[in-house]
This record gives sequence, C-alpha cells and structure tokens, in this order.
Amino acid sequence: MSEIKRTPIAAGNWKMNLLRDSARKLIDAVKNLNYQLQGVEIIVAPPAIWLPLVQDWLSGSDVKIAGQNMHWEEKGAFTGEISPAMLKDSGCTYVLIGHSERRHKFGENDEWINKKVRSAVSSDLKPILCVGEKIEEREKGKAFEVVEKQLESAFEGLGGVEMMGVVIAYEPVWAIGTGKNALPGDAQEMHRFIREWLKKKFGEDTAQRTRIIYGGSVTPSNITEFIQEKDIDGTLSGGASIKAETFLPICKSSIKR
Ligand code: PEP
Repeated sequence: MSEIKRTPIAAGNWKMNLLRDSARKLIDAVKNLNYQLQGVEIIVAPPAIWLPLVQDWLSGSDVKIAGQNMHWEEKGAFTGEISPAMLKDSGCTYVLIGHSERRHKFGENDEWINKKVRSAVSSDLKPILCVGEKIEEREKGKAFEVVEKQLESAFEGLGGVEMMGVVIAYEPVWAIGTGKNALPGDAQEMHRFIREWLKKKFGEDTAQRTRIIYGGSVTPSNITEFIQEKDIDGTLSGGASIKAETFLPICKSSIKR
C-alpha cells in the first residue's frame, strides 16, 4: 500500500495555567500564525473554564481546540465533571484522554480511560490518547509491554471505523515537565511499535492514517530532532505551549521535510 501523508500536529496542553488576559494574548498570537502557516494542524488545550472564550477568540481560524479531560457519561450527578457534549458545545474537536497527570496524580485507571475513549468517539470528539511508561518500567525493559497494555485496554471494543481521527500521544512519564527527553531514536522506536500494533489490530489503513505524536519536554530547540523521525507525526507540548515565544516556533518547526 502506498504511504498516506499525515498532516503533522502541534498540540499545546496548557494544563492548569493562564488567566484570561494571558490566554487571550497567546490565542491571538497563535491565530495570527495560523493564517500564515500551511500544512500543520495546531491544537490548543486550555483549561475548561476558558473553552467558550477560546472558541470565540479563535473564530475564523483553523486552530483546533481540545478539552484536557472529560467524563464518559452524557450528563447527571457528577459534580465537577464535564461531559463530551459540553466540550463539543464549547468548540472542541479533540479531547486529551489518559494524560499521565490524570493517570498518576488523579488515579485514572485503564477501565475509565477505555470508557472515556468510547464515549468521546460516540460523541464525535477525537480522542488524543496519551500513553507512556514510567522510568522504572523503562529501566526494567518493560516500556513496550506497558504501552501495549495501555493501547489494548484504551481501544478495547473499537473497530477500524471508530479509530478514524484518533490521535495517539506517546509521552514517557519521566519526560513530562522534567526537562528530560526521550532520545529521538528511542521515541521513533516506540512510535513504530505503536504503528505496528495498530496494523495488527485494525489493519494497514488505520496504521497508516493514525497520527502518533510525541510529548515530553518538547522545546523549540529539540522539536526538529523529533519531527524528522519517520513515525513521529507532531508533538504535544505542555510547558512550552503556554508562551507564544516557545509555542510559535514549535508550530513552525512541525512541518515534515
Ligand atoms: C504534557 O503536558 O503533555 C507535556 C508533554 O508537558 P511538558 O511539555 O511540559 O513536558
């Protein structure tokens, strides 16, 4: 099968950062860049409270919005939670699911993550599923086993059609917010492993179409090393995504050569 061209992604996870004024300034800068930059899909994931404002500020641009989290239920007595329909109604195309901070700081387990993935897909939201091993798992040679288990459980019950539009973010836990990176070659090896897994599970077409992005202390200085790897289809950055002076260069460097 001939290779399918995958549009690279520059996604920014703001986490619990930025107040209204600084959020507005950053969005204005990103929107401006979007008018000049072709061939990169820019995604911003602001805190839920800013979503409707960000939707307004971005109107007329191609920048996509992602929720940072969601509940799997449609509505009901779930204090503090946000439903898929609420994300859609606030302009989201994507939603981060299973981010390592959700898994390890808030105790999200594989069963919940699977429920969230299925709920997102059936609500017409594209999940950005985050997977990645802890440092002790990598040191014991278990990184591939851990990631495979996360993939198996997150996508249980989904078929090739439901996988359309799903994005996978490989984010080694030890590289998130630490300033440490995976070696680009090691990241590529994991991305290729994920693509092979997709092929075994859903077939060649899904494997070729699915974008697999890298996350973990991505900066303007190291993005190019990652983006030039064959199976790395973009990045998910956290710390570097909340400042225009770092996020804009990341977006510009996301074009695959
Ligand atoms: C993230 O939040 O997904 C992330 C990769 O963060 P950072 O870029 O700060 O490591």
